[in-house]
Amino acid sequence: MQKEDIVIIGSGPAGLTAALYTARANLRPLVISGNQLGGQISITSEVENYPGFPDGTTGPELVELMQKQAEKFGARILIDEVAEVEFRNGSPFTLKTYGDSFEADVVIITVGASPKRLEVPGEEALIGRGVSYCATCDGFFFRGKDVVVVGGGDSALEEGIFLTRFANQVQVIHRRDELRAGETLKKRAFTSDKISFIWDSVVEEILGENKVEAVRIRNVKTEGTREIATDGVFIFIGHYPNSDLFQGQLEMDERGYLITDEHMMTSVPGIFAAGEIQDPVFRQIATSVGQGCSAALMAERWLERLEG
Ligand code: NAP
Repeated sequence: MQKEDIVIIGSGPAGLTAALYTARANLRPLVISGNQLGGQISITSEVENYPGFPDGTTGPELVELMQKQAEKFGARILIDEVAEVEFRNGSPFTLKTYGDSFEADVVIITVGASPKRLEVPGEEALIGRGVSYCATCDGFFFRGKDVVVVGGGDSALEEGIFLTRFANQVQVIHRRDELRAGETLKKRAFTSDKISFIWDSVVEEILGENKVEAVRIRNVKTEGTREIATDGVFIFIGHYPNSDLFQGQLEMDERGYLITDEHMMTSVPGIFAAGEIQDPVFRQIATSVGQGCSAALMAERWLERLEG
């Protein structure tokens, strides 16, 4: 079994920032990447809201730069997935990937969250070609275009309202005739002259050759189907935190987000968490970077205490 001071699980902005900080503290962190090096941003085509890049950058480029910077100071990145952990007996903690087993004095969890998918034909193939799960990331590219938003919660309305800055028309497709979203957002959406609602309807298929061209929707009351021409499909039907691995080991809220204290520590001393796995609210690259930095600083202090 390989012994490590710090293992970071996940390689998105939170994980790579935690790696940079702990590497610069000479702790030679081991980052276990997960199945997608860079996490959610690695599938984001354009990034225009991360400070320091006035001309914008791409998700893959940002991942590469963050990775390079962390590795320059001694972080090691293992392309593998953690399959099993044992945190209940305290430090050192054990982790198993598909290839190896590790012991670690400190663990930083940055495994993120995943947007829920509709799981309809056309969705997967058209991600990044009109299908999006992030209005902040992609809204700008729909300037003057028509988009549909799927969902009836706060996210759907908040993001739908945000999209009116760019889009010509935003049609919200909701599966019921009543919104889940709160009153303030409802009022703002109902009074926007760019937003309209398609009630009692579900998206059955997203259509388009190389980019989104239309959606086929079904009215759940009449069972009637029709096609709506659109340039973009923004899906906000909730996120799920990637916390299955930690069930029964770490405290989480009813939605599965890890609970952390003001020092980014989880319910098990010595296990820290940062980024979307513990943040259902902000979900930005910049906030994940900040949380990754905080978790790293706290992890360093924790190690000093263990060694002292
Ligand atoms: P949410 O509240 O769970 O809403 C998800 C919406 O998607 C619901 O309207 C749901 O329909 C719909 N939906 C779920 N699965 C679907 C499917 N397979 N097909 C079609 N529609 C589907 O998620 P959220 O909007 O992301 O919000 C998550 C949490 O963050 C909430 O607690 C919310 O209040 C909070 N939040 C707050 C703010 C704010 O205060 N400004 C902003 C964003 C989020 P049903 O309604 O029929 O279930």
